[in-house]
This record gives sequence, C-alpha cells and structure tokens, in this order.
Amino acid sequence: MKDVPNLFGSMVFNDQIMQESLPKDTYLALKKTMSQGTHLELDVANSVASAMKNWAVSKGATHFTHWFQPMTGITAEKHDSFIAPAGDNQVVMEFSGKELIRGEPDASSFPSGGLRATFEARGYTVWDITSYAFIKDGTLCIPTAFCSYSGEALDKKTPLLRSMEALDKEALRLLRLFGNQTARRVITTVGPEQEYFLIDKDMYLKRPDLLYTGRTLFGARPPKGQELDDHYFGSIKPRVSSFMKELEEELWKLGVYAKTKHNEVAPGQHELAPIFTTTNIATDHNQITMELMKSIADKHGLACLLHEKPFAGVNGSGKHNNWSIATDDGVNLLEPGETPFENAQFLTFLAAIIKAVDLYQDLLRVSVASAGNDHRLGANEAPPAIISIFLGDELTRILEALENGSNYHSQTRYPMEIGVTVLPHFPKDTTDRNRTSPFAFTGNKFEFRMTGSAFSIAEPNIVLNTIVAETLSLFSDRLERAENFRDELSRLIKETIHEHKRIIFNNNNYSDEWVIEAEQRGLLNLKTTVDALPALISSKNISLFTKHHVFRESELRSRYEISIENYCKTIHIEALTMIDIVRKEIIPASISYQKELFDLMAQKKSCGAYDCSLEEALAEQLVNLSVCLAKKLEGLESALIESKQISESAALARYYRDVVFNLLSEIRLIVDELETITAKKHWPLPTYADMLYSVH
Ligand code: ADP
Ligand code: MG
Repeated sequence: MKDVPNLFGSMVFNDQIMQESLPKDTYLALKKTMSQGTHLELDVANSVASAMKNWAVSKGATHFTHWFQPMTGITAEKHDSFIAPAGDNQVVMEFSGKELIRGEPDASSFPSGGLRATFEARGYTVWDITSYAFIKDGTLCIPTAFCSYSGEALDKKTPLLRSMEALDKEALRLLRLFGNQTARRVITTVGPEQEYFLIDKDMYLKRPDLLYTGRTLFGARPPKGQELDDHYFGSIKPRVSSFMKELEEELWKLGVYAKTKHNEVAPGQHELAPIFTTTNIATDHNQITMELMKSIADKHGLACLLHEKPFAGVNGSGKHNNWSIATDDGVNLLEPGETPFENAQFLTFLAAIIKAVDLYQDLLRVSVASAGNDHRLGANEAPPAIISIFLGDELTRILEALENGSNYHSQTRYPMEIGVTVLPHFPKDTTDRNRTSPFAFTGNKFEFRMTGSAFSIAEPNIVLNTIVAETLSLFSDRLERAENFRDELSRLIKETIHEHKRIIFNNNNYSDEWVIEAEQRGLLNLKTTVDALPALISSKNISLFTKHHVFRESELRSRYEISIENYCKTIHIEALTMIDIVRKEIIPASISYQKELFDLMAQKKSCGAYDCSLEEALAEQLVNLSVCLAKKLEGLESALIESKQISESAALARYYRDVVFNLLSEIRLIVDELETITAKKHWPLPTYADMLYSVH
C-alpha cells in the first residue's frame, strides 16, 4: 500500500513547499501576487527561482521548461538545463528570476493565424503564477501563457485567464448588490470527466490510420459491439487496471486529484474524473492527464486513443465539463440556498446563465467544434449539435411559477416570490438524470457535455466564463440603477425567463422530434464545424469578447483562420492516409485473394468438371468491389488536386466537408464490404474485433 497523502503533490512546488523553502517576505509577496494579481518584483522572482531550483534538483531534476498550450491543442515545452559553467570544467546549477518569469521559445512554427509576421517570429512565455510548477520526467515545468511581442495571445491559457478575470469582476459586482462585502474573488471551478480508449499497442502499430489520423478510416462492424452494455462499469481487466494504477499514482504526484475511474459504454473505453478545482488549474491538469495517459499506456504495451471517434459504430469519447462559480470564501453560487435571500441570489445567477446560453448558443457550439468532434455531435450518442439546457422538472416548474406569478405545486403549494419564498428542496437526483442534454444542471453545477475528448477544456470555459460575465454585467447595469432592488430583481428574473425559456428542454435530446421542435423554437442547429466557425468572427461575438477584454478582434480572426486550417488539414491527412492504405494494402490484399481463387478455379477445371460456383461468385464480388474502389480512389485523388484551386479558406472548408469527406465515407463503405468477404489471412489490418477486444 502506498502512502497516498505523502505521495500526493510530491512533485509539485505547492503552497506547503513554498512556505517551507521561501523567506517569509518572499512568500507573502508571492501570495499577494497570486491572490490579487499585483506586480512581482524581480528580487522576489529571483528568490523564488532559487528555491524552486533547489527543490527541483533535490528531486532529481536537471532541466526546466516553460510549459505552454499553443494553438496546436497539445502542450509545448523546450527544455533548458540548469547548468552554468563555473570555470575549470565545473558547472553549477542555476536558475534566475528572469528565466522563471519569462521565456522566449523560438516559436515561429506554432500556429498564429497570421498574427505574427515572420520578421517578429518570436513570441514569449510568461509564468502563470496561479498554477504551480511541477516536475515531469526530470524537468521542472513552469506553467506559462504564450503571447506575441505586441501582446496578442498565441495560446489557450491567456484568454482563459482573461475570461476568469471578466467573470470575477462581473460576479463580484452583482454580489455587492446583494450586500456581499466579504468575497474578494469569484472563481469558476471545473471538473472534467475524460473518456478514452485503450487498445493493444501491437494492433495500434499495424493501423496506419490510427497512427496518422487518430481514428480508424476503415473497419467492418464486429459481431459484438456495445449492444449488451456489458462493458459499462464492468470489472476492470488486469492490464487496464495496472495501467490505471500507475496513471493515478503519477497524477497524484503531480497534484492532480484523480478520483474516479471506470469502464465506459464501448468495449475498450474508459473514463477518469478528477475532483474539481479552479478552472485554469483544471485545464493544466487535464492537459497533463492526457499526456500521461498516452505515455503510461505506452509503457504498458497499450495505446491510448483520445480521438472523439476512433471507431465507427461504437460510442465516441467526450469530456464532460462540470462547471460552477464559487467565491474565494468557498460558497458555491450555483448551490440553491436555504434562505429566501440565498435563493434569490441563486436564481439570479441561474437566470444569467440561461440568458447567456440562449444568446450565445453559437459560441458554445464553436467552442467544441472540430473535424473529430463532428463525428460525435449529432450522431446518436453524444448530445446533438443543438444547444439546450436541462434543468429538470422541479426547477423548470419553479421558473414557470415565477414567470407567471402563479403558485408552485409540489407536495404543498408555494406562492413564488423572489427573495421572499424559500425554494423547496430540489431533489439532487442522479438516477433519472437526463444524459442526453448538452448542458445539464446537476444540482449545484452545470455539466457541458459536448466537449470532445481531445479538446483542451480551455475553449469551452473561455466561452462559458465570458458569456456569463456578459449577462451578469447586463443584470448589474440594470439593478444598480433600480430604486427598489427587490422589485427590480423580480421583474428582471421574470423577464429573463420569459425571453429565454426556449433554451430549456428536459426531454430526449437524441430524438428526431427535438430537431424539429428546436427549429420551431428558433434554436440554432450548427451541424458541422464549418457551419459553426463563422460564429468566432460575427460582429455580435467580437463585441462581446472585446468588451470583456478576453479576445481582441485580431485574436478572434486568427483563431478563426487556425480552426479552419486545422479542419481542412485534418480531412486532408485522412484522405492521404486512406489513399496510401488502399493502394498499398487493401487493393494488393484483394488481388492476392483473387489470385488464389482464380488459381484454384483453373486447377479445378484442369482436373475435371468440379463445381466452381462458389469461387466464381466470390471472385466476381472481389473484382467488382475492387474496380469500384480503384475508381473512387481516383476520384478522391482528383478532388485533392482540385482543392488546390480554392484559395478562400471558408470555401475550402466547405469543399473538404461536402466533397472530400463524402468520398472518404463512400470509399470506407466499399473497403468494409471487401473486409467482410476477404479471408482473414489476406486481410492486412487488425479488425475492429481484434482491436476492441485486444486488452485482457
Ligand atoms: P457524475 O455522475 O457525472 O460522474 P459527479 O458528481 O461524480 O457526477 O461529478 C462529476 C464531476 O463534477 C467531478 O469531476 C466533480 O469533481 C465535478 N464537480 C462536482 N462539483 C463541482 C463544482 N462545484 N464545480 C465544478 N465541478 C464540480
Ligand atoms: Mg458526468
């Protein structure tokens, strides 16, 4: 048995280590900067850097890196060693405050969407003092934000921190109106539930599609998929279990609160959930989690697949983003309260969220848009591409009663009046919770379920924080001018419910009827990434983000360009991979099987009048499918050539979606049919059954 409390955070330069290793003044100055965002003096930084280095060296570290999250979606690091020459072939280990605070990675090849002209190709990284440094693989990692020289964000952390500031400011403003003078900061908290697949590494290495694109481009359905639901919460196989144990231990060392683990719905699919924490730390921790999942799987002879849809026909992987708002003195603002006063405050925040989600459906959708996630959203498993809110019947009835000024019926009749009535206790029911809703209220938090498994959770949280900051700010604008606060608040909540209740939907989000009803309600249904991306640069959304200083217009435009380019590149790589596999593996396999059949038929015929009908039928099917496949493949090749003629990025993305992607699907159908009639010894790729049931 490991000593978990001692293990936990042992590789993190956390508060306890800081207290122990820093001079008192330095520690206090650092804490002040952390909690209030004040400027950090260089002598303080020097003192912190030196303590950090001594601690890191004592833990066996030799290098340091500024660890950041560029627009590639993964984390980046460039390692420098601590060594400095000390004469006569000697070295000393050094690390200065300057090196801690600021770095200049040669970053010219990170995507910038045109933000960084090549002549000023260097960006710089700045220490995010609110996220602790940690040691990974003998390297001291310093969480940093990444910006261009003119201060434009080139990463995901910078806008996330800005959005947290915006929400902090607006939520405090509203809390003050409710008479709260004690809270000094409001933070958003997040607990992301991460889904992933594990397959045998040997299988993985034999699938170039998984290697290059993260998903299988081919694969006939296995005889047994997830129909029996016998994997969900099933007992964990020994190899998976030893992987999970090591993963948890490594995460604990890094201060990640990995809490629950279980099998998911699909065979080979699993989930890990941490205990929630401050949003930017949760984001860093989720990046670390994904990274470790991959490297530890590798050590166990496994491959961890984080793609949203590695296998067609079985569930894809998402990441449920559990989100709430809390004060620094530990009050969860989305917890319905015990007193009329607390209830009024809760309902105000709830109304602000309802309004925000309705007004900015497009932004929530775009925050989870990618070629990978398009396979999931709207397919019959994940939430559809339509944004709506699940509140549950109880809370919905309460809002209706408020809106209509009528009584609320439960066991007893409650006359509903804001700030006067105690809300009845809503059951925090976990059993019949609506699992189909994209944005569900789950008792004291919202769960945004559309995020893809491969995403950085920075993206949805930037949007959530900003849109709620905006509606809170509109509320405060109005309430600050009110002559009678309570009357105005009542009116405000009633009006908000009335105007935005169309976004509330408690029934089955997977049904066809919902698609029709949502359209009648005027809700957006942005089916693909290509439909969703323009939301990043609409004037309404540019105003929103610039008003709250989360994005400059140039940053939004650059993100739009990067996203479009990513989308096109993803499908382009899938197309090239498909062409390669079909030419080099599938067609040769079909031909060698055909040869075997034709040789056999010739032999049979030379020996007499044996019945060759079986071989003939099979050979004919093989020949026809292969010819058809070769033609389609030529079509795909010309489509790729033709795509070079399209220079406008949105048009190119539409072309990839409507032409190239459709061809990929058509080719897949043919290959999958070929697979079902080809003898196993001729089929070059591990099958779905091989992969999904490969880990014992
Ligand atoms: P589920 O039934 O969906 O697994 P849980 O209650 O286990 O629900 O919580 C799922 C996730 O939600 C966990 O990561 C948990 O830490 C997180 N969570 C719980 N409370 C909050 C909160 N106030 N803010 C953010 N996340 C939270
Ligand atoms: Mg959940």
